[in-house]
Amino acid sequence: MTPRAVTVIGLGPMGQAMAHTLLAAGRPVTVWNRTPQRAEALVAAGAHLAGTPADAVAASELIIVSLTDYDAMRAVFETSAASFSGRVLVNLSSDTPDKTRAAAEWALGHDAAFISGGIMVPAPMVGTDHSYVYYSGDEQSFDTHRDTLAHLGEPRFLGDDPGSAQLMYQANLDVFLTALAGIAHGTAMAGAAGITARTFLAEAIQLFTAIPDIIAADGIEAFGADIDAGRHPGADATTVMMAASADHIAGTAAAVRIDTDLPRAVQRLYHQAIEDGYGADGWTRTIDAARVPSESA
Ligand code: NDP
Repeated sequence: MTPRAVTVIGLGPMGQAMAHTLLAAGRPVTVWNRTPQRAEALVAAGAHLAGTPADAVAASELIIVSLTDYDAMRAVFETSAASFSGRVLVNLSSDTPDKTRAAAEWALGHDAAFISGGIMVPAPMVGTDHSYVYYSGDEQSFDTHRDTLAHLGEPRFLGDDPGSAQLMYQANLDVFLTALAGIAHGTAMAGAAGITARTFLAEAIQLFTAIPDIIAADGIEAFGADIDAGRHPGADATTVMMAASADHIAGTAAAVRIDTDLPRAVQRLYHQAIEDGYGADGWTRTIDAARVPSESA
């Protein structure tokens, strides 16, 4: 059986990694990028470089889009007069769930099936055993192309709302970027006292990797079930104690004259939980505090 062809539109680091992975898996791959020079290594590896987005869309039933955001997809296609009839658009670009849903409607209006997605590993890890990808949208088309998409990473389908995969992706990136911000901020704080990043990060990463054991000694399943059931045990560490720590972090940041916005945001969540009457509960009460919209929202 001839392997199914794939088109990849967008050749930043992620699009290039996906196209190389699909080529290595033996798929005929057509690519298009606004800056065609970025296709050189792929063409050398056997990809076909389409001259226009319309040609790229014509080349394969499955079109994978990897651009900076969803506006870029519209910018590429709205001037291209591509015919999407019978095509399946899988957009793995980052954006908000609302923009994703609007793009799904746009695709439907152009006779394309639409699937959104969020790839959960950096470009060098695409196609490895560590890679997994959230998808949602047109389930029938997803099932048809599941085998091809599985080359990129383990596919995790989240239902027919095209916004769902994007929401799951952004919630995960919320964790990721906030964690990176914590590492950056802690490194700056330690640095203010002359502690090098080399010394500090060895300490911080030891703590960082212990977090699952610290927060979920009985396993993530039981931890999540407690939160879903509204149980926030505070026997080992109360919100009041954690709020005092948050105060000390913000106070230290101010004292060593570095940014205080990040620790103050954390501080606000703990004090909101106490204000709501949950000071004796555990830190997971800050999840409820995070549910309160900011005044600027
Ligand atoms: P880049 O920003 O490096 O690449 C962006 C791509 O979008 C390029 O092909 C660029 O074209 C194109 N582009 C941007 N704006 C336009 C426009 N107006 N018209 C036409 N083309 C446009 O991003 P990455 O490859 O790193 O990431 C792509 C997507 O994958 C992003 O949404 C990102 O969040 C997501 N992602 C990336 C990861 C990574 O490790 N890189 C990890 C997980 C997700 P040109 O080359 O001409 O500039």
